[in-house]
Amino acid sequence: MATGVPVLILKEGASRTYGREALRSNILAARIIAEVLKTSLGPRGMDKMIVDSFGDITVTNDGVTILKEMDVQHPAAKLIVETAKAQDTEVGDGTTSVVVLAGTLLEKAEPLLDQNIHPSIIIEGYKKAMEKALEELDSIAVKIDPKDKDYIKKLVATSLSSKFLGQEAEEIKNKLLEMIIEAAYTVAEEQPDGTLKMSLDDIKIEKKKGGSLLDSQLVKGIVLDKEVVHPGMPKRVENAKILLLDTPLEVEKPDITAKINITDPRQIEAFLEEQTKILKEMVDKIAEVGANVVFVQKGIDDVAAHFLAKKGILAVRRVKRSDMEKLAKATGARIVTSLKDLSADALGEAELVEERRVGKEKMVFVEGCKNPKAVTILLRGASDMALDEAERNITDALHVIRNIFLKPKIVGGGGAVEVELAERLRKYATTVGGKEQLAIEAYAEALEEIPVVLADTAGMDTLETLMELRRLHREGKTWAGVNVLEGKVEEDMTKIGVMEPVRVREQVLKSATEAANALLKIDDVIAAAPPKE
Ligand code: ADP
Repeated sequence: MATGVPVLILKEGASRTYGREALRSNILAARIIAEVLKTSLGPRGMDKMIVDSFGDITVTNDGVTILKEMDVQHPAAKLIVETAKAQDTEVGDGTTSVVVLAGTLLEKAEPLLDQNIHPSIIIEGYKKAMEKALEELDSIAVKIDPKDKDYIKKLVATSLSSKFLGQEAEEIKNKLLEMIIEAAYTVAEEQPDGTLKMSLDDIKIEKKKGGSLLDSQLVKGIVLDKEVVHPGMPKRVENAKILLLDTPLEVEKPDITAKINITDPRQIEAFLEEQTKILKEMVDKIAEVGANVVFVQKGIDDVAAHFLAKKGILAVRRVKRSDMEKLAKATGARIVTSLKDLSADALGEAELVEERRVGKEKMVFVEGCKNPKAVTILLRGASDMALDEAERNITDALHVIRNIFLKPKIVGGGGAVEVELAERLRKYATTVGGKEQLAIEAYAEALEEIPVVLADTAGMDTLETLMELRRLHREGKTWAGVNVLEGKVEEDMTKIGVMEPVRVREQVLKSATEAANALLKIDDVIAAAPPKE
């Protein structure tokens, strides 16, 4: 159909790259992201300082945090970032590894592309390699008992040790470790089949600036970063009957500004009296059903607060929705949206509700809840940065425990598992043969990048280390890996406590392969022009 009329498919300003050029540019972008993250891998990983467009600073060596703050633009790089984030949500760990592995898989694909091996063959080879690796991973992973608290503690210590180094840090680490273990086992529920299950939602992390991380504490219950609204209210209520209210204790103000003509001062008085009466009725209703503590998601009028105080009711206003939900679960209360529907069965229970001083400020503690599976880790720390970093580390550690509960098997860290899998994949590759064999071998090499990078962060000779590791694994030392802290090769990483839930490594393999293959599949990048300012 040669009509001679140009057909406009893309908007003006859109750019298009295709074929090998698109592929190369994507590979390059993924490799750059991997390069950036490499030096942050493991316990000797370096911190990154990221400054956002508002001038706010983040200092961290946490993979996902770095990626989130980096504001990546290239579409391929974005895909890698998304994969890492998904990994973080799914298993809460292994994000740096995913990015490094995905980047290296693409890097290793380049020479194959140069030999004119079609991307679809590489993709197929990578897929086969991943499936084989997952199968082998499951067979070498060691079964453990999730109810063995001491063992789990050792395991969690590994995940924390990569973040805290030094003398004072040791003390902080132990403190956090105690809280994490206690919190996890408090909320864990035994399943009918004897396994344990925990929901991270049951553990609330509340940060309060001031003091040191060592002043942090685990509270069996819920802590709210709020004060009691009126000085005349009790600061401590035992055997609390708790009302959760998602409606303001205020007289509704008209949406539009109404003009009222007043001709007599008594009219104002009457108007105010009417308002007071409405508020008093609200409070009477609350007292009538027997509530002695009220948490309100919205506002509380000063007059209402005064009436509540007179009735000896402790009240808190502007409670976050997420906290209201946690309170509902913990105390067995139902969130009430209208006072009209209020009845005694909506109330929840707790042994004690109390306002306490935390540093210079006050917080409200709800303890001895009806449902004991609600805990709060109350973090103290000198700066927002320290608090945020501690929160991230705690979340990571809780994920480790959750992963173990979901699949109670572990593997040796420090690159041990990767070297072992690489060895097994090389053997497998020869049975596959053809061009796919090359892709499987490339996959094996990519896996070895993890111990190589770890050795590098420890200042070790990377090539020598890799050779020695390969030798040890051929001799049957399944968990030989890099002891990053001492800068030497270790014959059994599990002996020095460096091990990880198998679920993390499984997910690393899946996520990284998926991301690399997704990019290998692309041969056309059509980008819309950026919107004009
Ligand atoms: P990720 O975001 O991938 O979890 P980390 O920075 O937590 O990245 O590093 C994890 C890697 O560091 C894993 O391969 C783990 O086995 C390794 N690792 C952790 N602690 C040690 C240690 N003490 N010695 C050697 N390797 C370690």
